Amino acid sequence: MDVSGVVEDCRRCVNAGIATLHKFMGVEAVEWRAEGSTIWDTEGRDYLDLLAGFGTLVLGHRPPAVVAAAKEQLDRMPLASRVLFGKQVTDFAAALAELLPGDLQKSFFCHSGAEAVEGAIKLARLYTGRPNIVSAEGGYHGKTMGALSASGRDVYSKPFGPLMPGVSHVPFGEAEALGAAVDGETAAVILEPIQGEAGVIVPPDDYLPQAREICSNAGALLVLDEVQTGFGRTGTMFACDQSGVVPDIICLAKALGGGVMPLGAFSSTAEIWKVLEDNPYLHSSTLGGNPLACAAGLAAVREIQRLDLPSRAKALGEHALARLRRLRDEHPDMIADVRGRGLLIGVQFPDSDIAGLVIAGMIQRRVIAAYTLNNPEVIRIEPALTIPEDALDRGLDAFEESVGQAEELVAGLSE
Ligand code: PMP
Repeated sequence: MDVSGVVEDCRRCVNAGIATLHKFMGVEAVEWRAEGSTIWDTEGRDYLDLLAGFGTLVLGHRPPAVVAAAKEQLDRMPLASRVLFGKQVTDFAAALAELLPGDLQKSFFCHSGAEAVEGAIKLARLYTGRPNIVSAEGGYHGKTMGALSASGRDVYSKPFGPLMPGVSHVPFGEAEALGAAVDGETAAVILEPIQGEAGVIVPPDDYLPQAREICSNAGALLVLDEVQTGFGRTGTMFACDQSGVVPDIICLAKALGGGVMPLGAFSSTAEIWKVLEDNPYLHSSTLGGNPLACAAGLAAVREIQRLDLPSRAKALGEHALARLRRLRDEHPDMIADVRGRGLLIGVQFPDSDIAGLVIAGMIQRRVIAAYTLNNPEVIRIEPALTIPEDALDRGLDAFEESVGQAEELVAGLSE
């Protein structure tokens, strides 16, 4: 395979900035096939995947049960007529209803996290008849206009103004500030239970319960965006399970498609959903809820339960956090903080240049890692929840070596 031809076509026909960025990080390879936590490039070199598609691949690459379900559906009927009843979508929605917290019961399917958030915002405005949305600084909800307005990093939103009106941001984790921002005009508060792209920020234990109370008292809906934290990633099926808080609307994507299909959803209670039922096309999507994606999603959800991936994430996460905290103690000038839950872990560096050096060091060692999108000073460790323990340790060895290498480089520069 002509790698330079792929790079050139990326530059010419996709996005020259991507080509430049990848080259800058030392990436000169084209991915070709993958299995579990291993990716092979066109030259046959293997890479250990500690990023898992920004947390999408909780079951790893090409989980056999999900691939088989998708193949079977592909051979029979991948897309819907949109007129007859669909068994894949109803089976999948019913399985989700079993799994979702509290009385969340009805689901709308789409293709991405951003679309799930758009739907949640629309449903909250429709149900409450109120205009305003309160979200958190640093939060990440996607890049379509509504989701972008709720997200909290100017670099992504400012160039596209004017954004959706009625959105305000409060510091994450501070219940008092949230309480002060919510009033009788608030349709919804939208939060991630643990902020992912902000740099893996775990709020105080009483934050979500307090947010729940603030919303209930004000008649506003609590929307939890579990696009990244859902399906076992943080050690429980949903991150909100750890606080016992049940949202009014939950947003899902990433892991929902089992690492095989793009799939998102927003789900709510039968009571709230009523406003979408008089005219069921008030919110719709031609390809949303298609049989192929739903067949994959159903197999994924069953497989996540069968393998008890939340428990696995919890155990492996504790192991990884302990190792990374030891590393922080050994390199206090390089690592400012290590935090996370389950296998959603962030390592905070003093600045983004040092984080960039460490990522480049990982790539040299053929380990795939990246920074968090709203905070480039933080490297995320979020592999598949199926990653074998020895592979995770190999990845952490590479991380340690890369931190040491970056430290030497920085010391050399300041001499
Ligand atoms: N919400 C959260 C919490 C996310 O982490 C992300 C993506 N990182 C999104 C929404 C947006 O998802 P997508 O990129 O699929 O639109």
